[in-house]
Amino acid sequence: MHELSIVMNIVEIVEENLQQSGAKAVTEIELEIGSLSGVVIEALEFALEEGIKNTILEHARKNIIKIPGRARCNKCSHEFDVDDLFTPCPECSSFDSTIMQGEELRIKSIVVE
Ligand SMILES: [Zn+2]
Repeated sequence: MHELSIVMNIVEIVEENLQQSGAKAVTEIELEIGSLSGVVIEALEFALEEGIKNTILEHARKNIIKIPGRARCNKCSHEFDVDDLFTPCPECSSFDSTIMQGEELRIKSIVVE
């Protein structure tokens, strides 16, 4: 399961950071997940419940921020919302566009005690 390995990765990153800071527990973690990142939010939430048991994140409040996809057309410079990587420009129908946001998959912040 793709999402569970993402959660394992998140736990690893957080534990490394906390070892350096000397904090004991995480009270809150904020994740930014782009709609084009390939992550299914519901699956990620489920994986979080399972994957953080007996880790430093076990009692953390989880805040998942969804980032919508945005692209800019390379032909006419029009900016538009995209749900997948194969959305044509609504102005000129070109498929030649650059993704500006929506591929995020990152820890935005953690709150420790
Ligand atoms: Zn265009």
